[in-house]
Amino acid sequence: MKDKLHELGARAREEMAEAGSPEELDEIRIRFLGKKGELTRILRGMGGLSAEERPRVGKMANEIRAAIEKELTAKSAILKKLIKEQMLHNEKIDVTLPGTVVWRGGRHPLNIVLEEIENIFLGLGYTIAEGPEIETDYYNFEALNLPKDHPARDMQDTFFISNEILLRTQTSPVQVRTMEKTAPKLPVKIIAPGKVYRRDDDATHSPMFNQVEGLAVDQRITFSDLKGTLAYFAREMFGKKTKTRFRPSYFPFTEPSAEVDVSCVICGGTGCRVCSHTGWLEILGAGMVHPRVLEVSGYNSEDVTGFAFGMGIERITMLKYGIDDMRLLFENDLRFLQQF
Ligand SMILES: [Zn+2]
Repeated sequence: MKDKLHELGARAREEMAEAGSPEELDEIRIRFLGKKGELTRILRGMGGLSAEERPRVGKMANEIRAAIEKELTAKSAILKKLIKEQMLHNEKIDVTLPGTVVWRGGRHPLNIVLEEIENIFLGLGYTIAEGPEIETDYYNFEALNLPKDHPARDMQDTFFISNEILLRTQTSPVQVRTMEKTAPKLPVKIIAPGKVYRRDDDATHSPMFNQVEGLAVDQRITFSDLKGTLAYFAREMFGKKTKTRFRPSYFPFTEPSAEVDVSCVICGGTGCRVCSHTGWLEILGAGMVHPRVLEVSGYNSEDVTGFAFGMGIERITMLKYGIDDMRLLFENDLRFLQQF
């Protein structure tokens, strides 16, 4: 039995010397000293020993166990230190290397301008409303006083998904959707920004572009409220000296309707190439909400009136920054975008 114990001690030492990782040491500890380990198995045979021998063998077994444990602890400490050193060596940081340049994104000019527009109207007590880009024929046309055979639909040829489903050509459907939800409560004061789609593609038209639409509905809203609001907007957007001009126009969903010009932001009104020497730049369309639009949206047109206006964010952005080709706004060329 003593021989077996000695042999076990020697074997354990040998294996510990060869162990290369803390996991291997754990495995050795279990195999030699564990509950079902080799040492336990040898000690089970102690019953066959004489009464004198038993304590001596017991003592010897304890000494061997203690020796193995001590060795395991020492070896484990050495291994851990080695591993740490290796890690430090492998993950060494060279502080003289140049750092990684972190690219800072910038805001797209369209977003800068949209945010400016939003801030001006939020300051006037408007809230922001949104609607779906895939719209029904009803909300995009019919509810806006454009029945199926209306010739004004030609100006807004779009992409049809089916006969009744299409990509919206304007953000105006949001007006009807908002009024339907709000009616008969007053007032309604929203701006609706978003993407719209038409079948155009050239230097000043894109099949996808962005609009902001505004709507104010309440009792006793008049055309002068509309004029005052848009004149204020133009001054905030293009500078204190900006003048506005209203020209009669036609939209099916407003009556009367107007095109709104601002004094040229480049020449100040004296005439230049950008304004075709007229001194004026067209920036938006507007008018008093057509009674029929109020009625389909749930308002009594005898009691309430409203005005609406809509503008292309691309157009405002191009005027503000002197950009001559709309396609630059969608090409994602960093040389262009980094200027903003
Ligand atoms: Zn000009």
